[in-house]
Amino acid sequence: MTTNNAPLMLSISGMRGLVGKSLTPTVAARFGAAFGSWLWANRRPGNEDNAAPVVALGRDSRQSGPMIEAAVASGLASTGCKVIRVGILSTPGVAIAANHLSADGGMVITASHNPFPWNGVKPLRHDGVAPPPEDSANIIERFHNNDFKYAEVDGLIRFEDFPTGDKHHVDEVLALVDVDLIKSANLSATVDSVHGAGGDEARHLLHALGVKLHHLYAAPTGDFPHIPEPTKENLVELSEQTAKLGADVGFAQDPDADRLAIVDENGTYIGEEYTLALCALHKLGQGQSVAANLSTSRMVDDIAANVGGKVIRTPVGEANVTQGMRDNNATLGGEGNGGIIDNRISQVRDSIIGMAYILELIAARKQPLSEIVKDIPAYAIVKDKAGVDPEVLKTMPDKMQAAFAEQRIDLQDGVRIDWEDKWVHVRPSNTEPIIRVIAEASDEAQAKELVQQVRDVLGLV
Ligand code: MG
Repeated sequence: MTTNNAPLMLSISGMRGLVGKSLTPTVAARFGAAFGSWLWANRRPGNEDNAAPVVALGRDSRQSGPMIEAAVASGLASTGCKVIRVGILSTPGVAIAANHLSADGGMVITASHNPFPWNGVKPLRHDGVAPPPEDSANIIERFHNNDFKYAEVDGLIRFEDFPTGDKHHVDEVLALVDVDLIKSANLSATVDSVHGAGGDEARHLLHALGVKLHHLYAAPTGDFPHIPEPTKENLVELSEQTAKLGADVGFAQDPDADRLAIVDENGTYIGEEYTLALCALHKLGQGQSVAANLSTSRMVDDIAANVGGKVIRTPVGEANVTQGMRDNNATLGGEGNGGIIDNRISQVRDSIIGMAYILELIAARKQPLSEIVKDIPAYAIVKDKAGVDPEVLKTMPDKMQAAFAEQRIDLQDGVRIDWEDKWVHVRPSNTEPIIRVIAEASDEAQAKELVQQVRDVLGLV
């Protein structure tokens, strides 16, 4: 992660920047005003009259959160929107609160798993969907052009607060699982909430499911005790504690609690790729579809094939996955970064529904998690990244198509090349100034070789 002089990132994932450098209160207020102005121009169905758009505004636990929140609230309010502050809450919690409040949109102040110096702002539409590419481009254009619709003073509305978003989120999740089944299994779990926004929601959920909880870094202080991305090297303590305490499962959330990584009862890091795979194993039925982005493990293809289901592949980014879900009547979708989406409760990745489904899976199968995992064919996935040169991006599709002319090529998002038993996907990141190369094969050596082939073709250093 670049932490010096990184430019402001504006994409389908919203805005991210370094606090005090590329991300200042001025920038945050302008982004709020851009979104507020866009909401006035794009009324939700049934609210085409002149009622002020309502926006649910939440944040993760970062130290910069209150400052950025105040600036975004100010920008939103300046356009005559009604701002309802939902406080520190997971990203899916904000989406669910927005829906509960019949809001016209939501905004989440978070830089997700980026380190402490970062923050960001993620917009959500009235239906909790991150604005799709054309809407996102329009919001960004308004931001760049200072194309704001400021209200006059009698059009300004006082802020309101909604402090119970965590309970609403958990109630929605509980309605989708067999609470009695999970309770009867007498499960225990270790959870690492990384002092992020999702600790309260995790605690409420596990309490309601009768799961004995050992909670690491529960308080939402924003003082991340380790690098907050929920990857193996950052979750050593979770692994050790899960094994030591004999818990049935270990869960790790990222700071805005939309991602979920899993550790088995032996303390072995199963990894984020397994979050969607295990949920699909548990929930996907015959004839049903699950949506996954192009960088997500083929484990989900095997699981779908096994039950006569179908996998919809989409470009990376939650908005793209949920679009694929809506287009194909899929209730389940996700991304290989531990992002699981059930669009019956929200249109964003949700660590809380992920925990509930994994606990229900363990309870239903009456097997240790390590045994359940063995039912899924294993692959090796290698995720690499490199600094990005704009010239490389321009020539990438042509170079890749020329080099891999014999293989199946998908150009929905960067370039993905498929063989019978392996694939490689290269694309620019939406949230960081880098290019990502991801490969999956039956073993690590082959996956690494695919990554190296792409690095050679594109001349990445
Ligand atoms: Mg996140």
